[in-house]
Amino acid sequence: MDIKTKIAILGAGRSGIGAAVLAKKHDYEVFVSDFSPIAPEFKQQLIALGIPFEEGKHSFEHILLADEIIKSPGIPDKAPIVMAALDKNIPVISEIEFAYRFTQATIIAITGSNGKTTTTNLVFYILKNAGFNVGMAGNVGDSFALSVANDDFDYYVLELSSFQLDGIRDFRPNVAILLNVTPDHLDRYNYQFDNYLRSKFRIAMNQDETDYFIYNIDDEAIVKYIQENAIKSQMLSFSIQEKNQVHAFVDEQELRIFGKDELLSIGANELSLKGKHNIYNSMAAAVSAQVLDIRNEIIRQSLTNFKGIEHRLEPVLFIRDVLFINDSKATNVNSTWYALESMNNATVWIAGGIDKGNDYNTLRELVRKKVKALVCLGLDNQKLIDAFSDIVPCYEARTMKDAVNGAFLLANKGETVLLSPACASFDLFMNYEDRGRQFKDFVRKL
Ligand code: ADP
Repeated sequence: MDIKTKIAILGAGRSGIGAAVLAKKHDYEVFVSDFSPIAPEFKQQLIALGIPFEEGKHSFEHILLADEIIKSPGIPDKAPIVMAALDKNIPVISEIEFAYRFTQATIIAITGSNGKTTTTNLVFYILKNAGFNVGMAGNVGDSFALSVANDDFDYYVLELSSFQLDGIRDFRPNVAILLNVTPDHLDRYNYQFDNYLRSKFRIAMNQDETDYFIYNIDDEAIVKYIQENAIKSQMLSFSIQEKNQVHAFVDEQELRIFGKDELLSIGANELSLKGKHNIYNSMAAAVSAQVLDIRNEIIRQSLTNFKGIEHRLEPVLFIRDVLFINDSKATNVNSTWYALESMNNATVWIAGGIDKGNDYNTLRELVRKKVKALVCLGLDNQKLIDAFSDIVPCYEARTMKDAVNGAFLLANKGETVLLSPACASFDLFMNYEDRGRQFKDFVRKL
């Protein structure tokens, strides 16, 4: 009798269910365990596939029989069940690592603290326009495993978080993009920025000379890491600050990117995505497309025609000449920095929520220059008020309706109302999407 490899899957969210589907397809013996209740639609899927599962607990005796464990990125390494597995030398991997074993596709993987979703969408859009048979997965779209189980793509554009990278062993993207590394999620890294930085660089750890590593050379943390650690793949840098010895740069408001035969030039004002951060995202996407031999003309058209993504500096409406912008996805200080930086008019700024240890000092200069009033939208606004009340008038709101109405009263013609919270949303909203949609709904009702 065949002895099947036993796989236990911890966490029955999107990635866990995807891994279960793929493992079942390849005839593994699969068991799914979630410490919380499992969403009804996922439960249905497991039942339909005949995959045993449990919810509201992790039965150690059952899980620890596995030959390999696939862990959801949401479960910390310090969870008792993970520690027990490691203690028994059971390999614990991420769904990304698992899915990788079952595809031959060329992989473009994207990570960074901010800009991942935007850049992933941009790269996907360029590859689609170039006629590639390409899928987008990871943190956006389907889970990688589900897509590998159901589709047959030649290329994948993957958005990867540091948690997903923590669970890889052999995963080796042909093209890796590292956008930036600024403090985020440090609670999962013993409050050590270096640990988080190392996680991000795992994206390149299995690469060799035939692969490409595309990185932001303006990011000090990235540069420091590269000086101290060897990267084997071909390194291509992009920069706004440097013009020499970089692969992609900005000169006189023109993006310039060295291709194999010719230089690609695009005016920054032609890019469909505005703001300095999107110059970085666009450059990174363009470089990755070039190494895949996509024609400059297609890259240029794609970068100028790309429609933005919801909740990321998304223009909502002009109401009596006041522009409302939804940047609800800005859940940390760095992303809000770029949002404020890209404001051209006096701005009423709506911010606040759950602060993940924010240091607001880096925003003060921009706030002084660009913000005329701050509407604090959180359960506890004290830290925001303490950080800014000496330089701008601060107001408090406890509902999105009050925040939008209040901001509209504060804004004059020609000015902007920007929701860019710099904080997570869970105190008053279900998630950042809920926060962004409520913002848009109340703006439309003005
Ligand atoms: P992620 O997927 O990494 O969270 P997104 O593309 O969803 O990133 O963008 C999240 C927010 O971060 C956006 O609202 C924007 O304000 C900001 N942002 C986007 N790209 C960058 C970048 N390259 N550097 C800094 N901030 C960025």
